[in-house]
Amino acid sequence: MIIVTGSSGLIGKALLDEYVSNLEIKEIWKFLTSEDGDLTKESDVYKIFEKYQPTCIVHLAANVGGLYKNMYQKAEMFEDNIIMNTLLFKYARKYKVKKIISILSTCIFPDGVQPLTEDKLHLGPPHYSNEGYAYAKRMMEVHGRILNESGIQTIQLVPTNIFGPYDNFNIDNAHVIPALIHNCYLSKQSNKSFIVKGSGKPLRQFIYNKDLAKMIMWNMYHNKKSGMYICSPPSNQEISIGDVARQIAKCMEYENKLTFDVQYSDGQYKKTVEPNNIYNNFEYTDFSKALQYTVEWFIENYPKNKVRI
Ligand code: NAP
Ligand code: GDP
Repeated sequence: MIIVTGSSGLIGKALLDEYVSNLEIKEIWKFLTSEDGDLTKESDVYKIFEKYQPTCIVHLAANVGGLYKNMYQKAEMFEDNIIMNTLLFKYARKYKVKKIISILSTCIFPDGVQPLTEDKLHLGPPHYSNEGYAYAKRMMEVHGRILNESGIQTIQLVPTNIFGPYDNFNIDNAHVIPALIHNCYLSKQSNKSFIVKGSGKPLRQFIYNKDLAKMIMWNMYHNKKSGMYICSPPSNQEISIGDVARQIAKCMEYENKLTFDVQYSDGQYKKTVEPNNIYNNFEYTDFSKALQYTVEWFIENYPKNKVRI
């Protein structure tokens, strides 16, 4: 049995779609949410392992959010993530799990170091804005690597910013794309300025949740080697926040009222990466098409109260 934690989230739901549409998969995958157990509670983690006796785990659950959540909830993000990751990995060892796929992030790497490659994770402090989340995730990398000595294969995928349907679209706490889609939608409804936080100058790479779900599936069945693997479209796809905001406004047909509020922090200027070589043949979804689809998904689902906000 393969268990997936955090399956009500952005990646979890895309992975469920991928699982359902992949007719070649023989194993049973069990997609868990926080209703199946609070992973920060040891008794709940124990119950999950006792009930499912998993052989493999895809660990997606996390306390995660955008720049402003990282800045203002540092302690909670450190505590929740370090506790749930530690408990999950501890029970994976006790129950002799064979393989764990978990998710790090390019935002946990040392700030200002370029080019960013997997081997540089611990070579300097992360950006101050997200140090709670970043140090908790860095310890998951250490814990996972140590578990190799117990015979567990650990694959730690390192995506850039992820976006797509099923995201958390909360205006204050979400990552930039879902927050801006929601913001632009409400601005258009009330015919007000579409105010983008920060200068719009920082650069980011984005990966579509469906693409990352495909990568997770590939790693489960084809990657036999433990390690960290950066998951991102190549650096020539890097785009400024200002250009992302303009594309969202275009998709929403609300292009004339975009302004920037430089009172807000910009966060890290950039964290450019190249994808790991294992993805050399991967066909990434075109960013503009994926963004258009995500905006359409939001417009369709928001009035039905089916969007996480
Ligand atoms: P998400 O949409 O916020 O979903 C998080 C999931 O974690 C939800 O299913 C949530 O369950 C579950 N969860 C949170 N706290 C829990 C707890 N105490 N016990 C049990 N379940 C809990 O997150 P995501 O964007 O899919 O992120 C998946 C992974 O990718 C995380 O490890 C995240 O750090 C990483 N990542 C995300 C991004 C990004 O841009 N989104 C970028 C890099 C890395 P409920 O909904 O049931 O509460
Ligand atoms: P990061 O990539 O880890 O920094 O996280 P985000 O996805 O939150 O992106 C942050 C960048 O987007 C910063 O440069 C912000 O100034 C900018 N940004 C602009 N508007 C928003 C917004 O409404 N929410 C968020 N989270 N970021 C925004």
